[in-house]
Amino acid sequence: MACPTAKLGFVRSIISQDVYIQIQNLSKTYPNGVKALDNVSLTIPCGMYGLLGPNGAGKSTLMRTLATLQDSDSGGAVFGAIDMLRQKEKVRQLLGYLPQDFGVYPRISAQDMLDHIALLKGMANSGERKQRVAAMLQRCNLYDVRKKSLTGFSGGMRQRFGIAQALIGNPQLLIVDEPTAGLDPGERNRFYNLLAEVGEQVIVILSTHIVEDVTDLCTNMAIIHEGRVLYEGTPDNAIAGLGGRVWQRSIAKADLPDYERRCRVISNRLVGGRPLLHVLSEEPPGDGFAAGTPDLEDVFFTRIRGWN
Ligand code: ADP
Repeated sequence: MACPTAKLGFVRSIISQDVYIQIQNLSKTYPNGVKALDNVSLTIPCGMYGLLGPNGAGKSTLMRTLATLQDSDSGGAVFGAIDMLRQKEKVRQLLGYLPQDFGVYPRISAQDMLDHIALLKGMANSGERKQRVAAMLQRCNLYDVRKKSLTGFSGGMRQRFGIAQALIGNPQLLIVDEPTAGLDPGERNRFYNLLAEVGEQVIVILSTHIVEDVTDLCTNMAIIHEGRVLYEGTPDNAIAGLGGRVWQRSIAKADLPDYERRCRVISNRLVGGRPLLHVLSEEPPGDGFAAGTPDLEDVFFTRIRGWN
């Protein structure tokens, strides 16, 4: 799949837009015996790719492996012609990474910090660097607060700064690990818009346990659970696979345990203070249930419960 031509001057293609990442049979067991990755194979094209899984699924292990920060036990990963597990320096030149815990917020301004990071990434010419830092701050909607100390930034501003530092080196691959946790809805939207634009030009891998992140942003996705890939494809195809099998009804709270015993309850969301059940059934369950409209959350829960 080819990406649209880059719109933004500061994201410069240095490899072909048709290049994709191919992960093959990647496995990792930690010394404590936890098998964090179990034969993971994925194909990740240009655009926004969602890696959806509950906490402990193995997402960060996979992200850190692709980001060259830790080694797998077996398997492979290539990015075009680059062997990601062995040619680590080459990967680092192409990579922008926003870890789950960016963590360090020193008492210096956003502008000075970004300038420092750009210098570390090899931008030696101070004039060019200054221009690029200013453009990036504008791009990430931080220009007005560029002189403020990072310590005083809100969660949303910190995440946008995290993206700015990840993008400053013109990455062809951007990895963002659980980036929206803790953001309020407005901040999350601003962050989505920023990521969506970046995803038009490069590969963006977004790891998340938040289903809406994938629904709202990603053209391709995988569901990962206990180190294994349970689904790989488009969100639309995943949802279509549940067509005619999701049923819903509103029930009294006290009846919930009974329904959970009798039905495959996918989810129960409170609507107006009453649980709205989604259940999985090949046949109409009767009992007041109506046909439901499946969504990605239904896909997520049915897959991780092994009901597919
Ligand atoms: P996720 O990012 O999906 O929450 P992780 O990759 O962080 O998942 O973790 C996958 C599993 O590996 C979890 O059971 C976690 O406790 C375990 N794990 C992660 N890092 C380590 C480590 N350094 N040592 C031992 N176990 C780990």
